[in-house]
Amino acid sequence: MSSKSAKITYKHPIKVIGCGPIGSMLAIGLSEIGFKAEVYDLLTKDQILSRSRGYAITHSTRRILQKVGLWNQIVLKTNSFDYLRIEDISSCKPLVLNKDDLSIQNSIYKSVGWIIDHADLMSILIDRIISDNNIELYLNSSFSTSDYNSAFVIAADGPSSQTRKSLNIGIWSNSYKQGCLTAKVLIRGANKNTAYEIFRKEGPLALLPMGKDVFQVVWSAPYPKCLERLLLSKSSFLDSLASILPEGIEPDYVVDNPKCFPLKLSLSKTFGSDSILLVGDSCHSCHPIGGQGLNLCIRDIEVIISLFERAGFSPNKINQISYKYRYKRILDIALVGLITDLLVRLFSNDNYYLLLIRRFGFNLLRASSTFRRLILKMMTDGPMTILNFRS
Ligand SMILES: Cc1cc2nc3c(=O)[nH]c(=O)nc-3n(C[C@H](O)[C@H](O)[C@H](O)COP(=O)(O)OP(=O)(O)OC[C@H]3O[C@@H](n4cnc5c(N)ncnc54)[C@H](O)[C@@H]3O)c2cc1C
Repeated sequence: MSSKSAKITYKHPIKVIGCGPIGSMLAIGLSEIGFKAEVYDLLTKDQILSRSRGYAITHSTRRILQKVGLWNQIVLKTNSFDYLRIEDISSCKPLVLNKDDLSIQNSIYKSVGWIIDHADLMSILIDRIISDNNIELYLNSSFSTSDYNSAFVIAADGPSSQTRKSLNIGIWSNSYKQGCLTAKVLIRGANKNTAYEIFRKEGPLALLPMGKDVFQVVWSAPYPKCLERLLLSKSSFLDSLASILPEGIEPDYVVDNPKCFPLKLSLSKTFGSDSILLVGDSCHSCHPIGGQGLNLCIRDIEVIISLFERAGFSPNKINQISYKYRYKRILDIALVGLITDLLVRLFSNDNYYLLLIRRFGFNLLRASSTFRRLILKMMTDGPMTILNFRS
């Protein structure tokens, strides 16, 4: 589908608040099915691009990006990885998942997953929005709450969503004692084709290959400890990281300025109202273990687009979208929240009995290709895929 082809369009633009990854992909997806959209963000383009982060992309995200016609362009800016090495530092030898553990549908893409830099992703999305006749972009500007009643509004305004607050929608939230420190680091001795998830008592550590020996480090630990590490000089930061990496893997150089944020499991009590939807981080968030957060948010987009597609341009059907959206999303969001939470509790721990359970789990995965396929399918396609899993 091309954004420039003549399309029948719904005459009232859908107002999208937030031009982060979710708001922008959603606007593009809506345009692809003939809806007009207006996207608002408080930040300028340069400010949006300036965030230094790397995102892990799973096969569920790859599929959605294909549907909205963005994949071919985005994949060129990604670094694909062929192996996922999972290591429990206090238990047993590492487990390596590879392309043979993918389902048949995913294996034709020849990658376990992909990593993309935030700036690369956002510049593709914003340029695409600018060239799309169905989308108006208003950067460095706010959306007036008085417009809530005059249009269908989708809020993708991030974890501190003003929209959610102004609608007085409550949120269930459980703050982890852990925070997350992120940094791009040049690392020697790590395999460029491998993403690493290392479970440690203080919290999981992920190394995501971004190409040219640069890895996005996603380092969870007690929040005060993260803040302490954030204040270290770059050389002391490298020493601290070197002390916990597996043997043979050496951090050489910190490419950007490390950042730190508190971690929480949260879920909005409703997902909006009749004509307002909360999507992405404005609606839910989870621990970054297993790189699930952004991919979970992107699955919100898939459901919203299919609901708008089915509603066509019928105002009555469009008014039912809010209810259907919650109903269709709640199980996936709740399961990802629950599983990530259980994993954090299971692995950030040195309890002897939990250690035995972990060892048993790793041995089972090593011995059984069916279990490896199941785990990788749940990680990459979402936990709901367990319902139609064939070994
Ligand atoms: C510090 C930090 C580091 C992270 N690092 C990683 C990482 O390394 N890897 C990873 O996979 N995930 C990471 N995450 C999580 C990931 O960034 C989020 O899951 C993802 O950005 C969610 O996308 P979103 O579009 O829903 O929200 P956001 O990316 O937060 O985008 C929200 C947008 O809405 C705009 N906005 C806010 N309020 C308003 C308003 N009132 N009006 C208009 N616009 C508004 C904001 O300016 C922003 O552009 C990180 C999160 C944080 C906070």
